[in-house]
Amino acid sequence: WLGKQKALLDIRTRRPVTRDGIELELFANIELPDDTSDALEYGADGIGLFRSEFLFLREEELPTEDEQFEAYRRVIQAMEGRPVVIRTLDLGKDKIAKWQNQCESANPALGLTGIRLCLAESQIFRTQLRAILRASAYGQVKLLLPMLSQIAEVRATQRHIEEARAQLREENIPFAENIELGGMIEVPAAAIAVAKFLGHLDFISIGTNDLIQYTMAIDRNDDMVSHLHDPLHPAVLQLIGHVIATADRMGKPVAMCGEMAGDPTLSRLLLGLGLRRYSMLPIQLLKVKQQLLTTDLATVRPLVERMLAAEESEQMRDLLLELNR
Ligand code: PEP
Ligand code: MG
Repeated sequence: WLGKQKALLDIRTRRPVTRDGIELELFANIELPDDTSDALEYGADGIGLFRSEFLFLREEELPTEDEQFEAYRRVIQAMEGRPVVIRTLDLGKDKIAKWQNQCESANPALGLTGIRLCLAESQIFRTQLRAILRASAYGQVKLLLPMLSQIAEVRATQRHIEEARAQLREENIPFAENIELGGMIEVPAAAIAVAKFLGHLDFISIGTNDLIQYTMAIDRNDDMVSHLHDPLHPAVLQLIGHVIATADRMGKPVAMCGEMAGDPTLSRLLLGLGLRRYSMLPIQLLKVKQQLLTTDLATVRPLVERMLAAEESEQMRDLLLELNR
């Protein structure tokens, strides 16, 4: 066991490159600023997903603009120039803050969540955007919008960003002018019509936790059905392949930040589907890196083609075993 741990630690500083020279990027998912120490410890190339809602879940009260600014700045400064992707507030379905009115929706997963909630609570959203913009003066920050399902949500956000910028300029508060705007692809509507969304976004990140839940109509937090949540379902793999291929064709960066990206048994499958940017819990980084360092795209690709064509899930499992040998 110790030998295995040491081998993993040895690859901490190695660049993630496949044996046939495909360059990859491995990022960390974090919940709070203190998590950056783990991200750095395990050699992350940056923060691929900062789940900012965790700043909103701790207190009875909403965090102020200054409190948020300090939290974002801490993350950005700790990452020393590496990219930091901050996702705007993603509350509503599985996470409800103490200050929120008790959820009245009969179907919260299909209700006022993610970007919909941000746009409905525009004061909260504007405060967060100002805090993120202010922090952008200290490093490389990108914005990521959760639960996109309509292009109009991107446009409305752009208007909020413009207004926040105008205010900051007027107040002589510095911010980076060129902050990139990205979207989570985690609702099937956004995955299917991804080309349309990419026309308005600088990058995308695939959220497989929700993408699987909504594609298969399975609540990932419902013990009675969560075992049916299947990352290998042909519809899920086809959607992922379609999203990556479309982003590549349009020359826009695509990452994956759902749990699939941090599952070492799926790393090579995702490589074969075209993924080059993985974002995961820091503790998964070295295991995923090891899988990718010890493989090559040329061997992976035909096996993944066969997986996409497979009829039976048993056949899928056998091919996955072969892929991971
Ligand atoms: C996802 O849905 O895959 C995702 C990364 O977002 P979260 O798990 O925070 O909903
Ligand atoms: Mg999600």
